[in-house]
Amino acid sequence: MPTAVVAGGGLAGMAAAVALVEAGFEVRLFEARATLGGRASSFVPPGGAELIDNGQHILLGCCTNLLDFYARLGVRDLIRFDAEYRFVERGGRVSRLRPGRLPRPLRLLGSLLRLPFLSAADKAGLLRALRALRRDSGRRDLDDITMADWLSQQRQTPAALRRFWRPVLVAAINEELDRMAASHAFQVFRLAFLGPRRAWELGVPTVPLCRLYRLTGVSVHLRAPIERVLVRDGAAEGVMVNGEPHRADHVVLAVPVERVPVLAPELDLNVSPFEFAPITGIHLWFDRPVMDLPHAALLEGAVHWVFNKDRGRYLLGVTSASRALAGMSREDAIVLALRELEDYFPAARGARPERAQVVNELRATFSARPGLEAHRPPAETRIRHLYLAGDWTRTGWPATMEGAVRSGYLAAEAVARAAGAPRRFLVPAS
Ligand SMILES: Cc1cc2nc3c(=O)[nH]c(=O)nc-3n(C[C@H](O)[C@H](O)[C@H](O)COP(=O)(O)OP(=O)(O)OC[C@H]3O[C@@H](n4cnc5c(N)ncnc54)[C@H](O)[C@@H]3O)c2cc1C
Repeated sequence: MPTAVVAGGGLAGMAAAVALVEAGFEVRLFEARATLGGRASSFVPPGGAELIDNGQHILLGCCTNLLDFYARLGVRDLIRFDAEYRFVERGGRVSRLRPGRLPRPLRLLGSLLRLPFLSAADKAGLLRALRALRRDSGRRDLDDITMADWLSQQRQTPAALRRFWRPVLVAAINEELDRMAASHAFQVFRLAFLGPRRAWELGVPTVPLCRLYRLTGVSVHLRAPIERVLVRDGAAEGVMVNGEPHRADHVVLAVPVERVPVLAPELDLNVSPFEFAPITGIHLWFDRPVMDLPHAALLEGAVHWVFNKDRGRYLLGVTSASRALAGMSREDAIVLALRELEDYFPAARGARPERAQVVNELRATFSARPGLEAHRPPAETRIRHLYLAGDWTRTGWPATMEGAVRSGYLAAEAVARAAGAPRRFLVPAS
């Protein structure tokens, strides 16, 4: 039986491992931490009793590979989908965006035109830009300009930028409009807004993330950081863990990008073009229900989205590209989040917060800056039998769970090809 070692138990490593098992490999997975999941994981906070996620993780119906991976693990039905996006203004007015009966690409049009928080001029500009999105999707310079550049070419109103483009795109790409490459924003709109009906739906796991990771057939080693990829005569022959060599026919390195130069210096990977963007999650437990929506975007809020984790009493506020918030003290961040909730949800005004947990993930994702795509490496490397996986590799997606799973499947395909038994794992977008 051919053998493979996977280093890194995030989604990329898990996806590669599961696919390789299916392709007939004997697979050992080494993960540095005590749990699987990497940047999409759960933990019990100090003084807490229950598992919480390191951050709210959502997916869209167009995440075909992530959904395929969940199906392989038998947990696909633990994701709840919702076709309706809610936007809340200060004071509590709720507006809803949901697909109507018109065929694509007009499905969201009726709902968009009814949004009360945009003026007629905002909407006219928005429609112009949505038409231009289709027209410009073949433009060659989309990876060289920011989305803010492109939106300014489309003469968007300040309110449309603040109240439509920003809440949707900053959350999806985890970067500000004036820092994100337009290509990524275009992809979100092409797949989710203009794709098939279910592509738009927002998926939320109904259990802590770590409960999704039910790997079978993979020999998983936790608290087992690899120290080095073993390379001889230009070929990988295993990994070193705890001073012991673990030999394998193929090695998939599925660690965060900044770890690669230490673990496999022979690759000479230039990691300097990668910068990172933080995400802040503020978990709040109240003495009574304060929100009856499943989730909502807070228009122009310092907290961008709020998720209802348990009957309106446990809420998770999320801020993407959270450079300002991540620099605050824990106390200040909690005070800010509580004030915001009171502004947006009148029911929060008399409620007493019982507990709070702030999670700042400073390197949540790479910053999807213009020009970065050219530096993202493919799965195959210059070292024979050594493959790369991770949301930062060349997946065609920004740093997301879908991107991570795609990278794992691409690495598994490359391994299977090299072993002389090519397989397809990647599920094309529908
Ligand atoms: C707070 C937060 C919120 C997010 N929200 C979303 C969201 O809503 N939707 C979405 O799609 N994406 C979201 N993301 C992004 C998503 O989590 C990542 O893109 C994805 O999980 C990356 O997976 P990965 O396997 O590429 O990398 P990682 O998850 O970083 O996995 C790498 C693994 O390698 C391990 N490792 C490191 N060194 C070694 C070593 N020497 N030996 C062995 N193992 C090692 C690490 O411990 C880690 O487990 C979010 C990220 C964060 C942090």
